[in-house]
Amino acid sequence: MRFGCPPLPSGRDRQPMFKERKLSMSRPLRVAVVGAGPAGIYASDLLMKSDHDVQIDLFERMPAPFGLIRYGVAPDHPRIKGIVKSLHNVLDKEQLRLLGNIEIGKDITVDELREFYDAIIFSTGATGDQDLRVKGADLEGSWGAGEFVGFYDGNPDFARSWDLSAEKVAVIGVGNVALDVARILAKTGDELKVTEIPDNVYESLSQNKAREVHVFGRRGPAQAKFTPLELKELDHSPNIEVVVNPEDIDYDAASEQARRDSKSQDLVCQTLEQYAIRDPKGAPHKLFIHFFESPVEILGEDGKVVGLKTERTRLDGNGGVVGTGEFTTWDVQAVYRAVGYRSDAVRDVPFDDERAIIPNDGGRVIDPSTGSPVTSLYATGWIKRGPIGLIGNTKSDAKETTEMLLADYAAGSLPAPANPETDAIIELLDDRKIPYTTWDGWHLLDAAEREAGEREGRERKKIVEWNDMVRFARPEYEI
Ligand SMILES: Cc1cc2nc3c(=O)[nH]c(=O)nc-3n(C[C@H](O)[C@H](O)[C@H](O)COP(=O)(O)OP(=O)(O)OC[C@H]3O[C@@H](n4cnc5c(N)ncnc54)[C@H](O)[C@@H]3O)c2cc1C
Repeated sequence: MRFGCPPLPSGRDRQPMFKERKLSMSRPLRVAVVGAGPAGIYASDLLMKSDHDVQIDLFERMPAPFGLIRYGVAPDHPRIKGIVKSLHNVLDKEQLRLLGNIEIGKDITVDELREFYDAIIFSTGATGDQDLRVKGADLEGSWGAGEFVGFYDGNPDFARSWDLSAEKVAVIGVGNVALDVARILAKTGDELKVTEIPDNVYESLSQNKAREVHVFGRRGPAQAKFTPLELKELDHSPNIEVVVNPEDIDYDAASEQARRDSKSQDLVCQTLEQYAIRDPKGAPHKLFIHFFESPVEILGEDGKVVGLKTERTRLDGNGGVVGTGEFTTWDVQAVYRAVGYRSDAVRDVPFDDERAIIPNDGGRVIDPSTGSPVTSLYATGWIKRGPIGLIGNTKSDAKETTEMLLADYAAGSLPAPANPETDAIIELLDDRKIPYTTWDGWHLLDAAEREAGEREGRERKKIVEWNDMVRFARPEYEI
């Protein structure tokens, strides 16, 4: 339990959280969905749209829902953040109950959940950084991109201030997260003040000294993992000059094939080619995108970053690269390692440590010791297939996973829970004095953030502190 709090009204005094429904069977199918990011919400939506009578409890570790839409998508991407509006329609449904501020595996165990639900879907996503095994990665000034994202997106689990004294910065990685980090570093604090960033984030960003941001990829433009829109958008800031060296535009036969196979990859290549040949617009902050430079070592002095050493690579004919033995030292004072996110295990649920996913077959959780499905457990989203892809991709995951679950239900292979009453879980939460948040609570927190934003002429200003979020969402708690 994270906070002391008075018990919630219990039994008769509490309003039923699900409205009465006419049941086609003796009782509804009860599903716990663990993780209120897009994957969990889309899976809930599909279950509720099925022919079955379904009740869903959507558990979320944070006091607020929406996962990486709230704590990953960059603040200067309001269109993407706006996806939450369409997710509201799902959370508004009477068959679904949001139970936030509850960590499954810690506040409630998976075995306990089994007592209340026919099935459990894990949609726990990812928050940590994947390791980059390069010498110097632990120097001061070398950060995982996810740590910086957690900071600027106001995630209470991350730092409240950030050292932005470096004038030249390296970002390792050529995916969209690398672009987000590079763009936020290359923009001015004032450019970002119009977004939802909280005051503590603005205070650090307004001190940002970065004038050169260098993004590094070990392979070429046809292997970059950017999406076209995000790459094009870099150029929209009047403060950012995107620079690509024409010598870094190179394709082998496999690269040409990759362009023919994917319209999106071809658009990425075309945009990079445009950046390489156009006249400079004269913007003050330079954002260089370098290809064929493989990071070899982050260089340090007195424990702090003073440079990055890379080895020039060249294409091997199959879309891979080989080292050329030609090394460059880049004068940078900070390095951000944007080489991917990593999921965490949930206690008592199988976990493939190497791939950092819950082992599964199309969404059915698999026991690695037997290779057989674990009864009643399912996975969807990034925890199912790894931290790759956009919000929209979690829809197809959810379809596959929910189809498996419903097929198992129809086949009678989901054992009935011991305690399927709707409010039994609420009694457990009350008994443990867990200060859970609800969908109504999200509306209160949302209103508070909007009000704080409107006072400054912006749409929203995020509330960062965990206790403050709970306080706004459940004003009756004393924290
Ligand atoms: C930095 C960054 C920027 C991105 N920008 C974009 C973008 O601009 N456009 C786009 O389309 N996509 C973007 N994405 C990708 C997008 O965020 C993901 O595709 C999507 O969020 C994955 O959804 P998910 O539900 O699987 O995981 P998540 O969004 O990570 O949601 C998982 C949820 O589970 C909760 N949880 C975890 N463990 C537990 C537990 N034990 N108990 C209870 N709850 C738990 C977490 O708190 C979280 O809320 C971005 C990703 C990152 C990292």
